[in-house]
Amino acid sequence: MRTWAPGRVNLIGEHTDYTGGLTLPMAIQLGTTVEYEPSSEPLIRLESDQDPREAWVRLPVDGLRPSADASWVRFVAAVAAQVGPAHGGRGRVRSTVPLGAGLSSSAALEVALALALGFRGSPLELALACQRAEHAAIGVPSGIMDQLASVAGRAGHALLMDCSSLATTPVPFPEGYEVVALDSGVRRRLASSAYAERRSECRAAEAVIGPLRFASPEDLTGLADPLLRRRARHVITENARVEEAAAALGRGDTGAFGQLMDASHASLSSDFGVSTPVLDELASWLRSQPGVAGARLTGAGFGGCVVALAESGGVDRWFPERRHPAWRLVPAGGATSAP
Ligand code: ADP
Ligand code: MG
Repeated sequence: MRTWAPGRVNLIGEHTDYTGGLTLPMAIQLGTTVEYEPSSEPLIRLESDQDPREAWVRLPVDGLRPSADASWVRFVAAVAAQVGPAHGGRGRVRSTVPLGAGLSSSAALEVALALALGFRGSPLELALACQRAEHAAIGVPSGIMDQLASVAGRAGHALLMDCSSLATTPVPFPEGYEVVALDSGVRRRLASSAYAERRSECRAAEAVIGPLRFASPEDLTGLADPLLRRRARHVITENARVEEAAAALGRGDTGAFGQLMDASHASLSSDFGVSTPVLDELASWLRSQPGVAGARLTGAGFGGCVVALAESGGVDRWFPERRHPAWRLVPAGGATSAP
């Protein structure tokens, strides 16, 4: 059995998924492959080219206790707990997704592994099972975007994702363009970052003005606390930007799309407070390169990657001048599985 699942890059729609908002990720050509042979033993044994420690997980897995041990064995155990395979097996994991850079190596691992362990269910059920596995593995209540993008990706398309209905709509990605991701090199684990704090600020805002997904900028006057007003303003305006961006991408208007990326970064920086001087600097450096339509931080913030939409031809000229690890990303299809 051989399975593959892609990482993803989020083009626009940041910190909107956990309030049921809109995002526009795309599955990327970098992904995780699992080669797996079931056995008669009640033991899963997996090697990874990204980690010297072999993962041993005894079956059945009955619940994962929260733990400071963040090793990848927890991901394997958490996925096994969701899939509940009758037998163990042996396998090997290989990944071309950089770990911890914000391109979702964790979702790629979960999805490829769940398929290898014999997950049965719809694509949406697969994404939800892998989201639950991620919660159990790392103890952070992250949104559904990463897993759903990895499952539902469509070659040549980005995905407009409604995190309330969990509907995904493929949006054609323009010919002659690609996404450049530049790694800031700064690693902050979601749990230790302000992620949980932002989630609770959004909850506090929703307690006053109702679901942010359905709020409008006029509703912001109902929020007396200036901090909550800024947080809510980011989410409300970001949802609107995603709608506009999907429409712009669909008609090939990369100029308009790039401006919306820039505006998303500005909002994440000033209203949502998740950017840093390094991320601001990298985004503006990207914007100064020839053929770049727009740039923004992607992921939770405080580190990880900055992404740009860029003309492929232009990237050939400036890409080697990078000062940070960087990847050229194109849209890929979703997870696959073959006997
Ligand atoms: P991201 O998903 O953005 O890459 P995360 O912090 O969410 O970053 O997930 C990274 C973690 O996922 C790694 O520290 C590791 O525990 C696990 N992981 C992902 N892919 C692999 C892999 N191929 N082999 C081993 N562990 C992996
Ligand atoms: Mg992740």
